[in-house]
Amino acid sequence: MNNDEYDIDTLAVRAGTVRSQFNEHSEAMFLTSSFMFGSAAEAAARFKGEQPGPIYSRFVNPTVNMMEARLAALEGAERCVAFSSGMASILATVMGLMKAGEHVVASRSIFGSTVQLFSNILGRFGVETTYVSPTDPSEWRAAVKPNTRLFFVESPSNPLTEVSDIRALADIAHEAGAWLAIDNCFCSPALQKPLEFGADIIIHSATKYLDGQGRVLGGAVLGSKELMEGVFGFLRTAGPTLSAFNAWVILKGMETLSLRMEAHSRNALALAQWLEAQPQVARVWYPGLPSHPQHALAMRQQKTGGGIVSFEVEGGKDAAWKLVDATRLLSITANLGDTKSTITHPASTTHGRMTPEQRAAAGIGDGLLRIAVGLESVADIQADLARGLA
Ligand SMILES: *Cc1c(COP(=O)(O)O)cnc(C)c1O
Repeated sequence: MNNDEYDIDTLAVRAGTVRSQFNEHSEAMFLTSSFMFGSAAEAAARFKGEQPGPIYSRFVNPTVNMMEARLAALEGAERCVAFSSGMASILATVMGLMKAGEHVVASRSIFGSTVQLFSNILGRFGVETTYVSPTDPSEWRAAVKPNTRLFFVESPSNPLTEVSDIRALADIAHEAGAWLAIDNCFCSPALQKPLEFGADIIIHSATKYLDGQGRVLGGAVLGSKELMEGVFGFLRTAGPTLSAFNAWVILKGMETLSLRMEAHSRNALALAQWLEAQPQVARVWYPGLPSHPQHALAMRQQKTGGGIVSFEVEGGKDAAWKLVDATRLLSITANLGDTKSTITHPASTTHGRMTPEQRAAAGIGDGLLRIAVGLESVADIQADLARGLA
């Protein structure tokens, strides 16, 4: 199928499908660790790369390849390489494209484990990271060094939904001879396509909206064939591989991505507007609200404000924990991108490993709560929160 001819909703359902000799309608799950060869000569040709075809599921599996092809179609990327988790995808990006002595400029407002990965693990192997504001491109320009190879940003960010100007950061990165990598987890390609704004690399935690139902872990890195060759080389040798089962779940999950993202966004906007009107709520962060500091930019880059709403309650940690404990419907869990709404207190969970100073610099207060708005009735979600606010 020629992807250029079709809309994203069609690609989500049909791109990447490869059928076996049985001509099955739905995509098959290939649960096999290895693949057979017809002869010694064919085995040798496959290993040398002279003959296409699967070898071993650490790096080639038809179900995983279908998931990669479908996600590449949705993002408009030349190539996608799947991984066992979002974190493995971020690790593979650095391990596949960088070396000791090189430098990363990263947004200060990134996923807690990503900060740990850059600061505590990659730092020990000689890759240094400077953290800057996601919303001030001049800080990125000032942080550039002769050895800077990678810019890394999430937009919108977790948990404050800060929106970065992807085009501006791409221009600064390219002037510096660096690549811009975007963690596109919060929007998914249904709402934002970073390559169209000049980004070089897209990273996904497929665990979130791509699966969409909180079932499996997975991740992916996307970009040009040339860049993905390095990322794939790390996968092939080091093995942080996505299982065929998880790939199949994500592949089928993507078929409803646009529908779900529209519904998540509709609920999130209604909830954000309602929260903004509650006297016990000091502040609401949602890119779809005119009160959001980067509202105009968000509406240029994204189709909607997305499904994540954060808000600060009056009364700090005690008030925030009370609200969490009063819920009966919302799930108290750190995951997001599920059909079920989830509520998280970032300061004591997802961002608990940051120092209080790092949290303060990132604007994550003790009264902050994040809701990943699910597909329940928004009236029921509001009623669940109203009890705790009262
Ligand atoms: C969850 C998440 C990750 C990590 O993904 P895993 O699949 O849990 O490893 C990375 N970035 C963002 C923005 C996330 O929300």
